Amino acid sequence: MSTKISIVNVKNYENIPDAIVAAIKLIENDVNFNLLECKNILLKPNLLRASKEACTQPVFVEGVIKYLKESGVQMKHVSIGDSPGQIKISATQIAKKIGLYEVCEKAGIKFLNFEQDIPVHEKIEGSLRLEDYYVSKSVKDCDLLINLPKLKTHGEATITGAIKNYWGVIPGGLKAKYHMVGNTPDKFGEALADNFSWIVTNKPNRLTVYDCVRIMEGPMGPVSGNMKQWDLILVGTDELALDVVALEIGKFKSSKYVPHLRNASERGLGEYHLENIEILGLSLEEARKITPKFKVPGRRMTKFASFITRRIIYKVTKKIPILKKKMCIKCGQCSEVCPANAIKFLSGSYPEFLRRDCISCLCCMEMCPQEAIKPKLRGIGGLFHSY
Ligand code: SF4
Ligand code: SF4
Repeated sequence: MSTKISIVNVKNYENIPDAIVAAIKLIENDVNFNLLECKNILLKPNLLRASKEACTQPVFVEGVIKYLKESGVQMKHVSIGDSPGQIKISATQIAKKIGLYEVCEKAGIKFLNFEQDIPVHEKIEGSLRLEDYYVSKSVKDCDLLINLPKLKTHGEATITGAIKNYWGVIPGGLKAKYHMVGNTPDKFGEALADNFSWIVTNKPNRLTVYDCVRIMEGPMGPVSGNMKQWDLILVGTDELALDVVALEIGKFKSSKYVPHLRNASERGLGEYHLENIEILGLSLEEARKITPKFKVPGRRMTKFASFITRRIIYKVTKKIPILKKKMCIKCGQCSEVCPANAIKFLSGSYPEFLRRDCISCLCCMEMCPQEAIKPKLRGIGGLFHSY
């Protein structure tokens, strides 16, 4: 047995934070890091939109904070963040709407909006799709990553859970661009596995606390699918094993139908075989008995969703920086800060934006001292571009 996963039923505890603490304690002797030596602990919830059902519950963050505090971790070493990649709403606004921001303020932990981070250019060894890869600086800098996914169905990826939750480490508009790279469910699965591969290689200290209390299923996931009560929390350090176990609990026929799990398994990014996973706490049989079947979208649905995303949604919703010449003083700072070298600048001239190279990070807008750069949605016109 190489991989350990704990499963607890929240009904067996006073409240969810207590259940989370109990679930983490079941595996804490098997983690490869010393919590008290970690000085930059980053919590990564799923903050998809301003609806509690679509996000990791704030009470999950409360539970993890409770565990960290009881273990002697000082809150000055802890922060939390995400990049939902939404057009009209930021991670901070989502956190405020669902009550998560308040939890963080009360605990004294810093909330980070990855979309305001400067993206860091990184290399993924053996990358299949994400050759030009960037991650949020907050993720690059952390020394312990605590992953807080929620189990939901996903139109393109079939499911979103422990591995897919890391897609949020890619800042803002870039995620949409990568959807173009992974332009079929299988290729998108390879892109997700590329991203996960960077995590496995660069972030050896990881812990996942998996929200399976109220899961989302059906074709409208991960945004507004049907909610089902599972009342379970899964904890472990192997995300592939956690996703496999979650699907096994949901009586899903085979995890190999999920492209990113298949790809992660083929690349040896975690444990795929149930016989090599040791379950602590509630047994797999007991967990299966108390949960309803997890209904995931079929192959035709994921192909259709992938087509719509790549041909329409990404192109229309891409944010581009627009220069307001009247306010520009031709200082060139935007060009210096652009991580993708997408701004051509010659002294004495206005900056020129190279649209094909732009990764929509909007760092130029943040850094411009004159506020001479404004974001603009590409809109319908985007349908006529190949990028
Ligand atoms: S940073 Fe702002 S003011 Fe300076 S060149 Fe760029 S757009 Fe113009
Ligand atoms: S041009 Fe602006 S938005 Fe585009 S990649 Fe450069 S900094 Fe980011």
